[in-house]
Amino acid sequence: MGIQLFVPTFRVDECLAEIRECLEKGWTGLGFKTVEFENKWKEYTGLPNAHYLNSATVGLSLALKILKMENGWGDGDEVITTPLTFVSTNHAIKYEGLEAVFADVDEYLCLDPNDVKRKISDKTKAVLFVGIGGNTGRLNEIVNLCKEYNLKLILDAAHMAGTRFSGEMPGKEADVVVYSFQAVKNLPTADSGMICFKNPDHDEICRKLTWLGINKDTYARSGEKGSYKWKYDVEYVGYKYHGNSIMAAIGLVQLKYLDQDNAYRRQLAYWYDANFKNVDRVKPIPIADNCESSRHLYCIEVNNRDELLLALNGCEIYPGVHYRDNTEYRMYSYAKGTCPNSHRLSERILSLPMHLRMTKADVDYVSQKVIEYTE
Ligand SMILES: *Cc1c(COP(=O)(O)O)cnc(C)c1O
Repeated sequence: MGIQLFVPTFRVDECLAEIRECLEKGWTGLGFKTVEFENKWKEYTGLPNAHYLNSATVGLSLALKILKMENGWGDGDEVITTPLTFVSTNHAIKYEGLEAVFADVDEYLCLDPNDVKRKISDKTKAVLFVGIGGNTGRLNEIVNLCKEYNLKLILDAAHMAGTRFSGEMPGKEADVVVYSFQAVKNLPTADSGMICFKNPDHDEICRKLTWLGINKDTYARSGEKGSYKWKYDVEYVGYKYHGNSIMAAIGLVQLKYLDQDNAYRRQLAYWYDANFKNVDRVKPIPIADNCESSRHLYCIEVNNRDELLLALNGCEIYPGVHYRDNTEYRMYSYAKGTCPNSHRLSERILSLPMHLRMTKADVDYVSQKVIEYTE
């Protein structure tokens, strides 16, 4: 089987017990566990609103849709974003008829505030920040920049479940934070996500939009003295984007173990760091000061990434790359050459296996092979 990049871990009996409650109650859809998970998530993060979704991709799309709608942005208005991300970050901008303007990344693989500043134009409405691997990078400076230039801030926190900055959950100053609980994220369900708007009115609109634009959900309706209220109104041409109780049941169990799991991820990272400490040719991507990262990823920078990747595969070690510079994709090739640092790093970075089933011996074995095959 070798050593895989990601292997999700589930407390199977506990997950099954939570799912069982849904099956016995006869409630697997929107409401019930989704509400419970939303409440637990708000409690955990301290964010004021949380709405459970079927993915983070739809969350990012809704974030931009609602901010555009509520702030009167027009088609072609610009959102500054990073080329080093999963494409759903940038597709979300496109879905809403907005323009993705790419700014470069810094040594943390996160948006570089200096380049963001350079890329601000008359049409810029927002910045979309991705906390790669759970890193907060220079998010604080981006927050200040957004205040100074009156821009909205969207935090793609797909890797950031459980990340803390100076002891607090990052994102309180963002207009919206979107988390992913996709199958291989650090809080895996099978597929789902959470959207956390700062403004409660936005949260309310979002709840309607995720269920076809209907202005009351079935669970709330059936709660009204037990009678199923059929007489709702439809206020928007909404979507089918909400999460369901089976996924939320898994999420509820995962959340209980999130801090413990992330602590073990940081332990794995610490072992990797120690192994690479005196090896100049293997450069771990640094974590920002005061950031307690979720450690969704452990990334290194090397000179011979492609060869190293193949050599490791030969030893049954299967790393990944997070990410390929998005401006190399045809969809975003209009921005090719605008982010040289991202481009350079994207050819040099490698994400080493990082998951809860790994032991110190696994980390040592991977480290040894990495050291052996880097130039
Ligand atoms: C996984 C991921 C997403 C999308 O999450 P889904 O829940 O799979 O839709 C968005 N942004 C980043 C950075 C991701 O890694």
